[in-house]
Amino acid sequence: MIPDRAGPLGRHADHLRAAAQREPIGLYLHIPFCLDRCTYCSFTTTRDRALQSATVARLRREIRAWGEALGHPAVDTLYLGGGTPSLLTRQELAALTADLRAAFDLRPLAEATLEANPGTVGLDWLQAARELGWDRISLGVQALDDGLLARLGRIHGAAQALDALALAERAGFRRRSADLMVGIPGQSLAKVVEDARTLAGTGLEHLSIYLLDLDKSCPLKAEVEAGRLALPTEDEVADVFEALQAELPRLGLPPYEISNYARPGAESRHNSRYWERRPYLGLGPSAASQLGDLRWTESAVILAWIEDRGTPEIQELDAIESLSEIPLLGLRLNRGVDWAELRRRAAAANRVPLVDAWEARLRALAEAGLVHWDGDRVCLTSRGMLVSNGILELFV
Ligand code: SF4
Repeated sequence: MIPDRAGPLGRHADHLRAAAQREPIGLYLHIPFCLDRCTYCSFTTTRDRALQSATVARLRREIRAWGEALGHPAVDTLYLGGGTPSLLTRQELAALTADLRAAFDLRPLAEATLEANPGTVGLDWLQAARELGWDRISLGVQALDDGLLARLGRIHGAAQALDALALAERAGFRRRSADLMVGIPGQSLAKVVEDARTLAGTGLEHLSIYLLDLDKSCPLKAEVEAGRLALPTEDEVADVFEALQAELPRLGLPPYEISNYARPGAESRHNSRYWERRPYLGLGPSAASQLGDLRWTESAVILAWIEDRGTPEIQELDAIESLSEIPLLGLRLNRGVDWAELRRRAAAANRVPLVDAWEARLRALAEAGLVHWDGDRVCLTSRGMLVSNGILELFV
């Protein structure tokens, strides 16, 4: 969505600009192309590469327009996600990077991440990305078992995933992350832990471990519903996360968030901003933005987004929503939430009884060993992390 005065964000232009000037923002670009569709995927992505040049042209226009509308604000984290950003040509990546440098103030930039599929990366492309200033790479490994990868419809095998990590290192990416998936039909606890060990052994600095999510319709969900494949039970999944909680710190990768493990100091700064509720602008189909009290999501229909059809719904957060997101997101982090700060905000918004009610519940959960209070800070314990969904429902 181009932020012109006549558009849906027009009447909020001053608010958006002020929010973007208050502190550095994060910038996310969505590249919605993949060579093939994984069997579990619910992201906005297409195999229709004929749309790629129009998408890049549209993204370039959006970058320039948003930079202008927000007064060329400072950006401290960049994230190129998808889809498969490693399908961009070197020329496309160079053009997008040049536009970002021209439209935004990148002097405070602390991290520039790109996602890549191990089945699509070559040394030349990685070196070119590195030379353009991209300094962190996140590779969708998912598993180191060719049978499980085939079940997921991934376009790469286990050896190719390990090769991609090595290639990224050769290209100069000192900051490397991998995604692993838990809960794949047929995946054993021992194999997940072995994969995590193998990945840690490559020297990467960050590991994201996600539970397979079959909420939306997809071929893998159909297989499960037809009884041809069985998902692991909740207890089996909890056992895997418990084993990883014990093993990964020993491998130098302690957890810093429910699904994320990193060497100390190597936490994802871009993703941390979502849990800390710091401002971000998302460009591209399905990309989400939050600036000031406003939030919106771009159209997930790629052609509609390219042609600027359809109006994203602009959500204005009220005081209760803004307050409840602080523990809802902050308790995902190991360092938890500064409760005194939350109280100050609640007092300013005249909502202290709400925070009192939350605190009473969290004190009761502390008795049960699921929550830990340390002075004015509160966080989930390891056991609390394993049942976090139930705890975080308190704030929904
Ligand atoms: S690579 Fe990622 S975005 Fe592309 S189809 Fe697979 S899961 Fe979806």
